[in-house]
Amino acid sequence: MSGDRGAPRERRAAFPPTRKSLGQHFLSDRRILGRIADALQLQGGETVLEIGPGRGALTDILAERAGRLIAIEYDRALAAMLRERYARRGNVLIAEADVLEVSLGDLAAGPYVLVGNVPYYITTPILFHALAPPRADRAVYLVQREVAQRLVAKPGGKEYGALTVNVAAVARAETLFAVPAGAFAPPPKVESAVVRITPLATPLVTHEEEHRFRVLVQSAFGMRRKQMRRVVRSLFSLDAEQADTLLARAGIDGQVRPEVLSPEQFVGLMRAR
Ligand code: SAM
Repeated sequence: MSGDRGAPRERRAAFPPTRKSLGQHFLSDRRILGRIADALQLQGGETVLEIGPGRGALTDILAERAGRLIAIEYDRALAAMLRERYARRGNVLIAEADVLEVSLGDLAAGPYVLVGNVPYYITTPILFHALAPPRADRAVYLVQREVAQRLVAKPGGKEYGALTVNVAAVARAETLFAVPAGAFAPPPKVESAVVRITPLATPLVTHEEEHRFRVLVQSAFGMRRKQMRRVVRSLFSLDAEQADTLLARAGIDGQVRPEVLSPEQFVGLMRAR
C-alpha cells in the first residue's frame, strides 16, 4: 500500500524526503486513522496535543474534531509544510520541537488529551515523559506491539517491567486494536497496536512520591533476576537484617524477584522505607 495513496498529485510531490532516522512511517489508511481519532472520544471542545504529525494524515481528522489542536513535529521540513497547510485554521498550531524537550502541560495551558503515532525509536521515553503531571485526561498512542504488551502485562511475565509498573501507578492502560506493518509507508519492521492510557481518579502514588517511585522501580527491574532481599540491600545500602526488617514491614517475601511484585507492593516497599 502506498503511503501517499489518495493524496493529490501536487501534494504528493511536495512531501519532504522521508527521514527513517526520525522513525518516519506514515499511516494513510483512513479507516485506521479514524479509529485512532475515535479512541480519543472527543466531544468537540478539547485541546488535543498530537505527537509527530508527520504528513498530517491524523492531523487532518483531529483538526476537524478538536476545539484546539497543537501538533509537535521535530522535522523542520514537515513542520513548515504543515504550518502552511493549516495557516488558515485558527484552531491549529504546529510546534516545531523535540517532544521530549517540551512540557506538554505548559504547551496545552489547561486540560488536554494526547495522541500520537509516535516515532518508535523513542516510544518508551515519550510514554514516561507524558506521565509527568499535569497529565493528559486521556492518551491514545500507536506503538510497537511489544510496547503495548508491556503496558498491559501482569506480574510474573517477561513483558512486565518498569514501564508497566510506572504507568499502572497512575493510570489504566488498555490495548484497543492491532495495526499491521503493511498499513504504513514505508512499513516498519514490527507490528503495531493502538493503546489508550487513562489516569486513575486516585493514583497509587502522590505527585510528591512519583520521582522516588520511578527511581525505585527502575532500579529494582535493573536487577530483575535477583531476589528482593538482595535488591533492597543493594538499593538502600542495608545489611541482611535491616533488609529483612524492611521487607517484613512491606509484607514482601525476601526470596521473590522484582518481576512478581504488583504495583501496590512496590508502593508498599517505598512507603515502608
Ligand atoms: N502521525 C504521522 C502518521 O501517522 O502518518 C507520522 C507518524 S511517524 C511514525 C512519527 C513522526 O514523529 C514523524 O513525523 C517524525 O518526524 C516525528 N518525530 C520524530 N522524532 C520526534 C521528536 N523527538 N519530537 C517530535 N516529533 C518527532
